[in-house]
Amino acid sequence: MQADPILAAFTAQKARSAERRSSFGLTERRDALDRLAQAIRASEADLVAALQSDLGRPEAETILIDYLPVLQEIRHTRRHLRRWMKPRRVAPTLASFGATARIVPQPRGVCLIIAPWNLPFALALGPVVSALAAGNSVILKPSELTPATSALLARMIARTFPADLVTVIQGDKDVAQRLLDLPFDHIFFTGSPAVGKIVMAAAAKHLTSVTLELGGKSPVIVGPEADIDRAADWISFGKFVNAGQVCIAPDHLFVHSSVKDRFLSALRARIARAYGSGNASPHLAHIVSDAHAQRLSDLVSDALAKGAQPVLPPAPAGRAIGPTLLTAITPEMRLDQEEIFGPILPILAFDDLTQVIDRINARDKPLALYIFDRDQTRIDRIITQTSSGGVGVNLTLVQFTHANLPFGGINTSGIGAGHGLTGFRAFSHERAVLRNRFLLFPLIFPPYTDRKLRLIRLIKRVLG
Ligand code: NAD
Repeated sequence: MQADPILAAFTAQKARSAERRSSFGLTERRDALDRLAQAIRASEADLVAALQSDLGRPEAETILIDYLPVLQEIRHTRRHLRRWMKPRRVAPTLASFGATARIVPQPRGVCLIIAPWNLPFALALGPVVSALAAGNSVILKPSELTPATSALLARMIARTFPADLVTVIQGDKDVAQRLLDLPFDHIFFTGSPAVGKIVMAAAAKHLTSVTLELGGKSPVIVGPEADIDRAADWISFGKFVNAGQVCIAPDHLFVHSSVKDRFLSALRARIARAYGSGNASPHLAHIVSDAHAQRLSDLVSDALAKGAQPVLPPAPAGRAIGPTLLTAITPEMRLDQEEIFGPILPILAFDDLTQVIDRINARDKPLALYIFDRDQTRIDRIITQTSSGGVGVNLTLVQFTHANLPFGGINTSGIGAGHGLTGFRAFSHERAVLRNRFLLFPLIFPPYTDRKLRLIRLIKRVLG
């Protein structure tokens, strides 16, 4: 037995990874997914309690955003796995006439999954589902900022899987960095763009492939023809679920001047209905740590000192921070520069959509972009002229839950994507297999006689 648990876990998985390519077939993978689903169902009450302790999160939200998404992912994956695993015949090309071509998905091998704290269960186990479906083994490093949920994950996984298939290593960034020193076959990281860069640099040392699910400032645009009440409902939900600590939460909002006042009063009314007044709403999660609560209150103080106007003023009470709405936002404010990741919504009025589009394009490509409008031409224009990981039209957040849509960012908001078939592919190597039946290539093998050269020139005329 090796003394170092990190090295021991990695070595144990590595030792089985070649054999697992042939022994971990459809039946075994489905069985693994079934066992995981059972373990999750059996842990529901513990999960609700863990997230109540880690994030002060209401039960309803835990079920909606951490519990159900994993079970949905398992159900969808289980149902389609046979088809996803099947080698795919691809059509012959002129140059490969006489051969049959197939794409064979194979497991990458031993995978590292590093998870964040905001949806500490779903964002840890979602990628585990895809990794197992694709036939890999997994070392999972959950976040140190949600200790109750991470401990639950460790217990649940240890009861459900042998350590050489899935194991949880708990710890902070030092543990993550020791894991990153190892030559994994794939790394799936969910977290901040800053740490994403560290992960990618570490992966480069071994040329390990990566999927990076990162974050950024996701804008929402409320156009002149938006259904105002509907927009207020969805934006309130999307911004304040988990107290705004969601990677695809609307970060800041552009509203057309002609509907600004109506929208602001609809949003305030919606917030009052959902969360009441004050900070101690039982329907609102807490901020994950004192440090993050301090960071958010610094962002607000900085904005107020630089002229922001509070529409719904902040009144933080420790880690409970109520919905906060600010207008008169300027680029000098930190709020306008950093990902907010909390229940604070800066609101900017606009008259000219071109300026909004230019502003979005001048910044890092966001993970999500939301549009509320009824005018299809304007919606299409925004989609065509901007870039982001995904787009939600007249909704927030639920693009995350659509099993047939890839979920991922672009550049600073992420590299690669997950969920459903896309997740299966992220953890698979698509191996090209070409089988010779009667390829004519030997006709042009050296020595290059005059006849062969004439033949090559003829081929060039046809194919070139
Ligand atoms: P984070 O980057 O601080 O931490 C994520 C994980 O990386 C944790 O497990 C942590 O222990 C580890 N880590 C931290 N510092 C490290 C280092 N120096 N080296 C190696 N590992 C390190 O992110 P977070 O604060 O947990 O999560 C918030 C961020 O994650 C936000 O930017 C958010 O937008 C993003 N996010 C993205 C998605 C997505 O699906 N794209 C989902 C949730 C969160």
